[in-house]
Amino acid sequence: MELAKTIKYVRELVKAARSDGKKIGFVPTMGALHIGHVSLIDRAVNECDFVVVSIYVNPTQFGLSEDFEKYPRTLDADLKICEKAGTDVVFAPADNEMYEYENITWDDTEKLTEPLCGQSRPGHFKGVTTICAKLFNIVTPDIAYFGQKDAQQSVVIKKMVDDLDMPLQITTCPTLREPDGLALSSRNKYLDSQQRKDAALIYESLQIAAEAIAHGTKEPQTIIDQMRTTLSRIKNADIEYVSVVNADNLRYLDKIAGKALIALAVKIGDTRLIDNILVDAGE
Ligand code: AMP
Repeated sequence: MELAKTIKYVRELVKAARSDGKKIGFVPTMGALHIGHVSLIDRAVNECDFVVVSIYVNPTQFGLSEDFEKYPRTLDADLKICEKAGTDVVFAPADNEMYEYENITWDDTEKLTEPLCGQSRPGHFKGVTTICAKLFNIVTPDIAYFGQKDAQQSVVIKKMVDDLDMPLQITTCPTLREPDGLALSSRNKYLDSQQRKDAALIYESLQIAAEAIAHGTKEPQTIIDQMRTTLSRIKNADIEYVSVVNADNLRYLDKIAGKALIALAVKIGDTRLIDNILVDAGE
């Protein structure tokens, strides 16, 4: 496995792989890798001949009062995980490599970035789409892998790729969870033991929603109220949103039908966690 810290070097490595006829898979991450990330790398290794993982805590997707400074940075452990998973190249650039000069060119996907996380994180998706556009231009993958865990991100990136005719495919992979249902996240490290225990209620609330929908509930507000009741059992929780939206266009639903995304963000103490499930509610 190669470690590339510069754009020039990763481009050389990818160019050589491509000239050997290899299909390039790409997994963008912010590091602090866990088995959720590994599931994306596994999928890329299975489907492609040459796999690049990027590890970069992107400053432009963090708001001023967010956790950019304290975000866990565990490069040595991450490299071992990547190597074991069969990664060919880890691209781990420094900030001045990615944003060498003042950045004044942005990719900005509208509408899809307004609901859900867009409400409390203005500018977040502009940072995400811009860094992904940059990384796609650098790595030039055939397929890039994203997690359903960040459902809105995946929908936004797919739309960006479509709208801007970027020559790659986006594959969304299922959310990996702890045995009690908590979605794996680099931010779970911030939770103390009580908070970690309470955090299982996030998935419990999503399961309650799935069950109610399977039993025919069509009213989003009924689902939201039930979920909020479950989430209110978390101590010191600030429920940012609980929403039921169309899974493709992220529009709020008046009536649950077709493919729906049940998504939420909750702050436990200072730690903001997100999760979601997809349901198919039929007609
Ligand atoms: P992050 O490093 O948190 O920005 O995540 C990098 C990629 O891994 C994103 O596409 C995430 O959606 C994905 N990811 C994060 N957590 C999980 C998980 N628990 N299961 C599957 N994919 C995940």
